[in-house]
Amino acid sequence: MRYSGLNVIMQGLRGNKGWAQAWRSPSPKPEYDAIIIGGGGHGLSTAYYLARNHGMTNIAVLEKGYLGGGNVGRNTTIVRANYFLPGNSEFYSHSMKLWEGLEADLNYNVMHSQRGLINLFHSDGQRDAFARRGNAMINQGDDAELLDREGVRRLLPYLDFEQTRFPIYGGLLHRRGGTARHDAVAWGYARAADQRGVDLIQNCEVTGIDIENGQVRGVQTTRGAIRAKKVGIVVAGRSSQVAAMAGMRLPIESHILQAFVTEGLKPVIDHVISFGMGHFYISQSDKGGLVFGGDLDFYASYAARGNLPMVEHVMEAGMTLMPMIGRAKVLRSWGGIMDMSPDGSPIIDKTHIDGLYLDCGWNYGGFKAVPASGWCMAHLMATDQPHEVARRFRLDRFATGHLLDEEGTGSQHNLH
Ligand SMILES: Cc1cc2nc3c(=O)[nH]c(=O)nc-3n(C[C@H](O)[C@H](O)[C@H](O)COP(=O)(O)OP(=O)(O)OC[C@H]3O[C@@H](n4cnc5c(N)ncnc54)[C@H](O)[C@@H]3O)c2cc1C
Repeated sequence: MRYSGLNVIMQGLRGNKGWAQAWRSPSPKPEYDAIIIGGGGHGLSTAYYLARNHGMTNIAVLEKGYLGGGNVGRNTTIVRANYFLPGNSEFYSHSMKLWEGLEADLNYNVMHSQRGLINLFHSDGQRDAFARRGNAMINQGDDAELLDREGVRRLLPYLDFEQTRFPIYGGLLHRRGGTARHDAVAWGYARAADQRGVDLIQNCEVTGIDIENGQVRGVQTTRGAIRAKKVGIVVAGRSSQVAAMAGMRLPIESHILQAFVTEGLKPVIDHVISFGMGHFYISQSDKGGLVFGGDLDFYASYAARGNLPMVEHVMEAGMTLMPMIGRAKVLRSWGGIMDMSPDGSPIIDKTHIDGLYLDCGWNYGGFKAVPASGWCMAHLMATDQPHEVARRFRLDRFATGHLLDEEGTGSQHNLH
């Protein structure tokens, strides 16, 4: 069934009784050409592009919970292409282009909203750094505009321009940046992959990876053994645990990142805003809730809930930037498990085991990467060659020292 405006009207007239199931719930087959472990954004997009771009349809996505129950449904939905380093910038630029055609491609409303992202700066040094970043973005073919203080005030008059501790000097405006509805992205890819014949198998936890003579043979799951010559590990915060099933020790630490949403309010914030003197960023959802977040909880953990000191830190930063936020009531908060790499950049690569591939290290920025990550991981799994925009996302860079340290904070997982 294709979704369309006409279909919505026709279904409405018929009492909405004719909608078809969005995707099937098949039982696992004994063997597939390829298996993707993890039904998050990256796993689902990998499966979709394997089918769409490479004609591989005898594949399965194995998800231990339900589709979209991981970080893809827990993030703050920011989509941007404002990276600085060669290696990252062409990848995120590619992702942005895929975002811009995604709804038509998937035939699904993912509510992609290019409302503009503004990174604030609060010192001359920060201005220089953002000017340099903006030039890199323009050189890459993306958009960037440097705003002075009055330029920011015109767009965001409700910020506190009078406070003296962290005065707002200006901002870097990235007009094509914005948001998308996170779980709709998972559902859209799931439906589109299913329509191409991909088996999406929920409540199916991978508990072991079968390897013989250095070649992957399949996986063990809570629903039995499944054979496959190609297996992709695409499990975000659980990457270290699943890779350990293949005897691998990854350069990944899992840390918690929290987010918050307020009660629904009338439209007030029509951009995504990022504070430059502390980890705080905010946007307003289409339902009206203010969606905001901050930094990692700083210690490694697999508990998908956060600590109170970070709650306090985020609230303080929010109050500093826009004191009116103190009038809003927080509706809920949650945490997600981040796969932090030592340089803050991802890994899309083969492993030393034939047929075993890895897609991880998304840190807290992997939602916007979902289209390009799936595109490049599918390319790698289908052709055994890295895609040109992801060729620097090598696993061995942590041994060779060719790091992609976008933040310049050095090799420490929780500083990126
Ligand atoms: C609070 C928060 C805010 C964020 N904000 C942003 C943002 O604004 N912009 C942005 O770009 N990124 C953001 N991110 C990061 C982004 O959400 C992640 O980088 C990205 O979603 C990770 O990839 P994924 O979607 O594939 O992960 P997930 O959705 O976590 O998918 C991994 C899946 O693997 C499954 N799995 C794990 N182990 C197994 C197993 N053994 N067998 C089978 N299945 C298994 C899990 O159940 C899970 O569903 C944020 C994250 C959080 C938590």
